[in-house]
Amino acid sequence: METCNPLGSSSGKFKLGCVFFTLNNIRPLFRSALKSIFLLIVAKSSTIKVNGIDSVLKPFLTDLKTLHDEGIEVRFAGRNEVWKGALLAFLADNLAAHELGGFKESFSFARRFCRSCLTDKIKSQSHFRESQFVIRDRESHSKLCSRLSDPDGSSISVEFGINRCSSLDSLSEFSVVENMPHDIMHDLFEGVIPYELKLLLRYCINESYFNLPTLNHRLSAFDFGYSEIGDRPASIESEQKLRQTASQMWLLARIFPLLVGDLIPRGNSNWDCLLKLLKICEICTAPVLSADSAAYLEILVEEHHSVVYPGVTIIPKMHFMIHFAQQILKLGPLIQAGTMRHEAKLRIIKRAARVSNFKNVCQTVAKRHQHLLCFYIHSNQLLNTPIKEGTSKQHLVTFNVQLLLKQQYLLTEQSVVIILSSVFYNGITYKPNAFLMLSYDALEPTFGKIVTLMKTESNEIILVLNQFVTEYYDNHYRSFCVSESHQTYLHSVHSLTYYNIFHASRTFAKDSKLYLNLRHHFEL
Ligand SMILES: [Zn+2]
Repeated sequence: METCNPLGSSSGKFKLGCVFFTLNNIRPLFRSALKSIFLLIVAKSSTIKVNGIDSVLKPFLTDLKTLHDEGIEVRFAGRNEVWKGALLAFLADNLAAHELGGFKESFSFARRFCRSCLTDKIKSQSHFRESQFVIRDRESHSKLCSRLSDPDGSSISVEFGINRCSSLDSLSEFSVVENMPHDIMHDLFEGVIPYELKLLLRYCINESYFNLPTLNHRLSAFDFGYSEIGDRPASIESEQKLRQTASQMWLLARIFPLLVGDLIPRGNSNWDCLLKLLKICEICTAPVLSADSAAYLEILVEEHHSVVYPGVTIIPKMHFMIHFAQQILKLGPLIQAGTMRHEAKLRIIKRAARVSNFKNVCQTVAKRHQHLLCFYIHSNQLLNTPIKEGTSKQHLVTFNVQLLLKQQYLLTEQSVVIILSSVFYNGITYKPNAFLMLSYDALEPTFGKIVTLMKTESNEIILVLNQFVTEYYDNHYRSFCVSESHQTYLHSVHSLTYYNIFHASRTFAKDSKLYLNLRHHFEL
């Protein structure tokens, strides 16, 4: 992470490397909050380069061994208990993962470029099922590592794509071939999605379905919801260069069918390839997944790679996708074993490093992080996000809502109800015009649009929703087509089954209907 101006005279001087840790027994809802991601190691890149990553990790590994073998004594619920812990997974981008794990770092030149299996470049172009490859396992990997110092060590290094024995393998519960998962942010949002979108853009422009000015005009006119506006994709200057961040790229891919889908004939094979990739991404970003969904993902990846543009190279990140299904079975949903939130945490660390005193920038960062952590612990905010209310006003509600308040919440004419402009609850901001999923039965979800947010005298926050009818699912847009039913519905914000919000939008076709994209796959 560069803390100074990358074009300035101090460029590279104060470049930092950070390692964060997250406790896996925190509920996923709180685990993704930036305050639940803790700074473990911060060191100058030059220090890591001179001394090696193993020496930087050494104190951490020593502590982990103690935690695993002896545990630590903790005072809990009035008695002393010994708590033990272990390293479940080490998440990093591909380059860092290969450096830490002792694998070859060049994905273009290494004979075996994958840290999960022993594929080579040629086989990865034609085989798309994990069962078709020899999977690296703990025992054989440690045997190969022990042979690296033998006279034939260099040929083993080339043949199996291993540079050295990683210090992480010294942990009894951890293996670099099993516990360093592939990351969807780097593999999909910064890899496969831009790779395929560029191919699709080139194809669509060549076929005269649309041109870049049309796409950019639609992009600037698209109605992004308030929760998405921060990730609004930048305009596209060339089909060869999609300069977007990972979250901008994921949003661009999700809304791409709504942006230009009306200009593409239904059943177009290249368009269907994008739709299949989006389906894969929806499963990869789902917070809850069953074993059946993991099996379905494996089939989808195989189908997608088999129909991808003829003559196009299967890049290493596309090969890594074939390991996603097994990774879900071992470590749970991919979104929970990803680095997306850690990248966001880096921005906070970067802000903490931007002080005028660069004498010991690592110490400054560490101290500021610990001060913030102290604040969260003492104010009881670490695992408890307080409800934040927007501006409030007293407002007359319609007779219909009054009636529902009486029936559902036993309020009388004398009860005071405050209208709120917004509510921030469990990491989500609820505002008028956002959509909520009310039920999801037999692949037929029902949605409600927030009309008003109210707070009662007993501090209960109630959402007044307009119910929408789901007409059908349109795979061409990867969205549900919905229409308003004018039926009013009240729901307490504290008892929502599906707490995520969505935004509805129309395509640019004449007389377009209203479409809702669900962002990720839902388990029934
Ligand atoms: Zn592989």
